Amino acid sequence: MHCTDTVADTICRTVELGVTITGAAADSEDRTHIWCSVIGPDPRCPECRIPGQLRDHAERVLTDTPAAGHPVELHVAVPRFVCLTAGCPRSIFRADITGIASPRSVVTTRTERWIL
Ligand SMILES: [Zn+2]
Repeated sequence: MHCTDTVADTICRTVELGVTITGAAADSEDRTHIWCSVIGPDPRCPECRIPGQLRDHAERVLTDTPAAGHPVELHVAVPRFVCLTAGCPRSIFRADITGIASPRSVVTTRTERWIL
C-alpha cells in the first residue's frame, strides 16, 4: 500500500519529464506502473522536416528512478506520424522523446545518471 505522499511524489517526478499521466497502478511485485503521453510532441519528419500526420501511438516501457523505494515503470505512448511529403524517403516515424530516454534505451535519461 502506497501512502498518498508517495503517489503525489511519483506523479510530480513523472510530470517533470514533460508528459501527461493517463493512468497508474501498482503490481504484485511492488512496482509502480505509470501510463503517460508526451506533451507537445514534435511532428516534424526527421528527413524532410515537414510536419507529418498523426497515425497512432506506440507504447515504450521505460524503467524510471525508484520513488520511495518502489521501482517505477513508465509506459509512454509515443506518437507515430506518417510523412505525406512527395519524394521523402521516410513514410512513418516516431516523435522524438530523447528528452525522456535515449534511442533504444530501456531506462529514462535520469535513471542512466542515477545508476552512474
Ligand atoms: Zn518526410
